[in-house]
Amino acid sequence: MPHDGFRGWIRNCVPVAGRTLDNTTAIALIIAEDGSIQGVTVVGADGLRRKLHAGATILASGGYQGNPEMLTRYMGTRARYIRPVASGGYYDKGEGIRMALAAGAAPAGDFSSYHSEPIDPRSRQPGAVVFIYPYGILVNTSGERFLDEAPGASDASYDNITRAIAEQKEGISYVIFDAQVEEIPRWKTSIRSEVAPLSASSLESLLAQLGLPLSETLSTIARYNAGCTSQRAYSPLELDGVATSDVIPPKSNWARPIEKGPFYAFPIISGNCFTFGGVKVNVHAQVLDNDGKVLSGLYAAGETVGLYHQVYTGSTSVLRGLVFGRLAAQHIAQL
Ligand SMILES: Cc1cc2nc3c(=O)[nH]c(=O)nc-3n(C[C@H](O)[C@H](O)[C@H](O)COP(=O)(O)OP(=O)(O)OC[C@H]3O[C@@H](n4cnc5c(N)ncnc54)[C@H](O)[C@@H]3O)c2cc1C
Repeated sequence: MPHDGFRGWIRNCVPVAGRTLDNTTAIALIIAEDGSIQGVTVVGADGLRRKLHAGATILASGGYQGNPEMLTRYMGTRARYIRPVASGGYYDKGEGIRMALAAGAAPAGDFSSYHSEPIDPRSRQPGAVVFIYPYGILVNTSGERFLDEAPGASDASYDNITRAIAEQKEGISYVIFDAQVEEIPRWKTSIRSEVAPLSASSLESLLAQLGLPLSETLSTIARYNAGCTSQRAYSPLELDGVATSDVIPPKSNWARPIEKGPFYAFPIISGNCFTFGGVKVNVHAQVLDNDGKVLSGLYAAGETVGLYHQVYTGSTSVLRGLVFGRLAAQHIAQL
């Protein structure tokens, strides 16, 4: 990899592989009478439209996390509160997916869902995740707990937990925890927000800062604390089974009373890392139509390919871009 990363890598490829057009947006596929795809129409920074004819076209324009209209169409009103986890997501407006569907591509993946991450809405950093909630409680703006904060391994549960946050009023929740957090080795590494947590010496003062209803939230915490009766040994770096009793919703691990000041809180919203819906492809990354036939000349890779349902398996999104991009290139090279 050249010293200036991806841009340098592209620059090195250009003399061998072709040319790049910066600040240029693909807006439509060129479709021949026989239905084959023969390139794209683009619009450049000068506003002029150009037709780029090609025997093979690979759509690799990401998902639709930057397109509020598509998000609302596929996900409903909760989309109002879901923002991309990093500003780059705003450039992924689903144009490649939309163009392919309009040309007859079959949809694939769960269009109503997305890979969700718990982010601090106060932060302006990319990927400002807050993963401390399994060691505290999550409450909504009514001061109520609404799920099991620690049902199992964090990697397997955070997608569902943070999508549930998007379902709460105003799409926000607050993790509340206490000074016992200092017993967790390197706990601050679970937080990528540059903004410090809200803190106070009393719960009353903390809840006032958060603007949460005082008596309701104190009751929630009191009920939760009363249910923290497990005699098992607390062990923060493994699933310890220290669970609540007779509390709804339950908490399955690391359930200790919130009682030792200072008390802390982070606001958490659901960040959209990428959307799950895309187009269907075969093992050569060729886009398929609704009858399973190849849309001749059209390929897709990365988020533009629909792949996921329910829970995203960590670290596979870059991988699928590499895999399907390579498959497409290999197939095109043999044409
Ligand atoms: C903070 C963060 C952390 C992540 N961590 C991981 C991780 O640890 N492991 C992992 O596997 N994945 C991770 N991901 C997800 C992964 O990085 C992305 O899913 C992946 O990089 C997407 O690649 P892509 O090429 O499909 O889309 P993108 O990288 O989004 O590229 C799409 C490109 O197409 C351009 N474009 C869009 N529309 C058009 C158009 N009409 N015409 C021309 N160009 C267009 C966009 O500007 C963009 O440059 C993370 C993502 C984020 C934001």
